[in-house]
Amino acid sequence: MSFTIELVPEFKDNYAFLIVDHDLGLTTVVDPGDGEVVLRELKRRELYPALILNTHHHPDHIGGNDRLQQEYGAPVIGPAREKGYITGISRGVSSGDIVTFSTLRGEVMETPGHTDGHVSYYFPQLQALFCGDTIFTLGCGRLIEGNSKQMWESLQLIAALPDETMLYCGHEYGELNATFALAVDKDNFDLKKRTEEIAMLRKLGKPSVPTQLGVEKRCNPFLRAGAPEFREALAKARVAPLDADPAAVFGKLRTAKDHFGQKAL
Ligand code: ZN
Ligand code: FE
Repeated sequence: MSFTIELVPEFKDNYAFLIVDHDLGLTTVVDPGDGEVVLRELKRRELYPALILNTHHHPDHIGGNDRLQQEYGAPVIGPAREKGYITGISRGVSSGDIVTFSTLRGEVMETPGHTDGHVSYYFPQLQALFCGDTIFTLGCGRLIEGNSKQMWESLQLIAALPDETMLYCGHEYGELNATFALAVDKDNFDLKKRTEEIAMLRKLGKPSVPTQLGVEKRCNPFLRAGAPEFREALAKARVAPLDADPAAVFGKLRTAKDHFGQKAL
């Protein structure tokens, strides 16, 4: 069996994803925000969607459900806790549930914080996590419905996956996120290297998604709220005192980013 994961850019900076089974010509569509764009991509690649997965109820992630269902009748799986907000949903899932596509098994992880019921889908056979708006390249989702403790716990769940896991984030925020990350973590050599890499990718018109979990653990400030050397820097910069617990440090960082002048991130 041969599988690939394809990115479908939508809107200004969103990605939908296609998990493609090349033997069968079938695909799972993750977070179709723009039905027409995804439809065009499916036709171009001659793929038939067997399943739609949603990570959370925001329109830029579910807006294409209707159009794809009209055309193909593919079932929609999404977070059980957000069932009431997702049109066309056939099955609500929560932590521990399994979704299947072809010979693949996807494990559902509840990762609330950005929204209250946000879920991520982990496919061990692909070493891939579809994490919606929970974690981004060098950043994390805004706390729209959840609180910092919830989001910190969600990030810890993700951090516990194997380092080789590739994170398929819902937005192309890498370059913008790097600006904030460098502002708070300027002595981090890995971060500087990663920032240069991202700048190069973007210059070539390439995405900064997916991003590897192991790299994010070294570079993403929101995953580093427990790292001693970073904690010291944050205490010196008066962002968070040394004795604050990691969830509180995370909260301070998230608030600092909210006021960093990049409203949408
Ligand atoms: Zn969202
Ligand atoms: Fe989004």
